[in-house]
Amino acid sequence: MDFKQELSAYFKENCLLNEPMSRHTTYLTGGAAEAYVYPSTSEEWSFVLKLARTENVPLRIIGFGSNILVGGKGVGGIVCSTKHMNHVAVKGNRVTAQAGVALDKVCELASRAGLAGMEKLSGIPGSIGGAVYMNAGAFGQETFDCLEYVEVIDYDGRPATLLKENLPHSYRHVEGIENYIVLGAGFSLEKKDFASLVESRNAVLHKRIEKQPLDFPSAGSVFKRPVGDYASRLIDEAGLRGLSIGGAKVSEKHAGFIVNFNHATPEDIKNLMDEVKRQVKEKSGIELELEQILWGEFEL
Ligand SMILES: Cc1cc2nc3c(=O)[nH]c(=O)nc-3n(C[C@H](O)[C@H](O)[C@H](O)COP(=O)(O)OP(=O)(O)OC[C@H]3O[C@@H](n4cnc5c(N)ncnc54)[C@H](O)[C@@H]3O)c2cc1C
Repeated sequence: MDFKQELSAYFKENCLLNEPMSRHTTYLTGGAAEAYVYPSTSEEWSFVLKLARTENVPLRIIGFGSNILVGGKGVGGIVCSTKHMNHVAVKGNRVTAQAGVALDKVCELASRAGLAGMEKLSGIPGSIGGAVYMNAGAFGQETFDCLEYVEVIDYDGRPATLLKENLPHSYRHVEGIENYIVLGAGFSLEKKDFASLVESRNAVLHKRIEKQPLDFPSAGSVFKRPVGDYASRLIDEAGLRGLSIGGAKVSEKHAGFIVNFNHATPEDIKNLMDEVKRQVKEKSGIELELEQILWGEFEL
């Protein structure tokens, strides 16, 4: 049996072969994954990790695919989705959540429980695993601000609890996190008045609707914020708002976003990313750094 047959036999309906990644990423475009599985128990993780190792095939983790662009030629090996890992609990001033829980759900539960520290992350459309991996943030709050610990396994299947103090982190970056699979996380929050938290959460959700092109598929901000500036401001200044390649366009509403406005191929989006980077460098001298993550091969 090859690795795909072994996965099919083990995961049954939780294994999809030759699965289009357009179904699993918020850009709604992308080539196929050779195998796409939903491990949730420690036995299932052990199985898939061991198989990837013995068969020497790449293994990738996906949360909600809201920060990933997959090339048109797709990805070889195994993609593991955390979507079936969705247990969340609030106890006292602590929230624990498995990797596949929506970050926004945790923000909502925390706000309703009168727990402050995550309300400004409301509306970020990722999972807890993705939020930890990216140190997702908004409106001056970051995932790591109230994170206490992360439950992980490494690619050899060894479990560990990593304390925040032992995970050096900065803006959209967590050192060494790529060596682990995030299984869950614990957050320590502060008691605060419930009404003000819900109000703050609603204000953030409102601002997102007002400022972001949520009516088109995207993966949020394409580039990281350069020190002391905003990528969107530089893109705007370079006159690139509305620039399009194929079905991909620099959003008219928020120049930091690229939207899939008309059946964009991954290559349309990638070419537009490169073009924006090139022109911003030419016009402002600043080298934009990609925040979004590219997977697989592009048909360039
Ligand atoms: C409309 C829109 C608005 C957005 N606004 C914001 C914003 O305000 N702030 C912000 O920071 N981001 C924003 N984003 C980007 C995105 O939502 C975040 O980066 C989010 O944290 C990604 O989570 P995810 O579950 O979708 O991760 P994915 O896109 O699935 O994965 C991202 C990376 O994390 C890794 N990963 C995911 N889960 C795990 C895991 N369990 N273990 C190990 N690695 C894992 C993946 O391998 C990949 O490298 C926005 C996106 C959209 C579409």
